[in-house]
Amino acid sequence: MEQHITESLKQNQELILALQRTNGSSQKVTVQFEKFDEENENFDSVCVFFERFQMYLDVQNIPADSRAKFDIVFRKTADHGNADFLSRLPKTSEELEVKDDITIFQMTQIETLPVTSRELRQETGKDEELGPLLRALREGKNLQGREAQCTIEDGCILYGQRVCIPKKYQKNVLDELHTGHLDMVKMKALARSFVYWKDVDIDIEEAARNCVDCARHKTDSAKSKVQHWEYPGIPWERIHIDFAGPIFEHMFLLIVDAHSKWLEVYPMKVTTTKKTIECLRDSFARFG
Ligand SMILES: [Zn+2]
Repeated sequence: MEQHITESLKQNQELILALQRTNGSSQKVTVQFEKFDEENENFDSVCVFFERFQMYLDVQNIPADSRAKFDIVFRKTADHGNADFLSRLPKTSEELEVKDDITIFQMTQIETLPVTSRELRQETGKDEELGPLLRALREGKNLQGREAQCTIEDGCILYGQRVCIPKKYQKNVLDELHTGHLDMVKMKALARSFVYWKDVDIDIEEAARNCVDCARHKTDSAKSKVQHWEYPGIPWERIHIDFAGPIFEHMFLLIVDAHSKWLEVYPMKVTTTKKTIECLRDSFARFG
């Protein structure tokens, strides 16, 4: 267990950085422990972890009033998709218990990366830029600027949510980003969500510019006309309806009159057809 805790401390650079950044505010920091269950089997090791962590902060001279307060809360594995996504990299999204749409979307994108997490891990250590950074992160060095936002996840480096790609695989990733001959704006947007390396934007611009197929098919197609909704002559002639939320466990039915811009808002606990019709009926009864 000793070994395990020391290792956890070393690998939880993200937690350490996050705690330093919270600066005594009430921001929440989540730490995930492998195989921590409700039966408290590993509860002791979690407590020891926090004791050690306090010691670590002492050594780092972090003043007591700028430290985050800890609440140890049990969360189901299924709620930890964000922390897990890189370590589960080679798996397909069907294998995950995670139901969160965004996580599944991210996973499917990452799965299309032309490298496996093992290759990434190996090459990250060897890479002339990422190698030293990886070691600095492991040693808990005080990094500056962009490097301060980097964390280690399963032996790979993450810059925010983006996976840092070693030089060897940058070309493969660029090719993958350009699948379907996406233009540079879309490629950059995709890269910004998933991958990172120094000069990634410049490389994307070059890849998009140098694609023979793209150059051949490039035509300045006439921009389609923007279609405006016709302005209604009288109030309540046309209304726009949508749900917003959930906010504080409520959904909100929004009704906007296109003529006057009058806004009607119905807080709803459930958004069934029946309840929606009730709200609309109420609104129509008052406004026609
Ligand atoms: Zn192309």
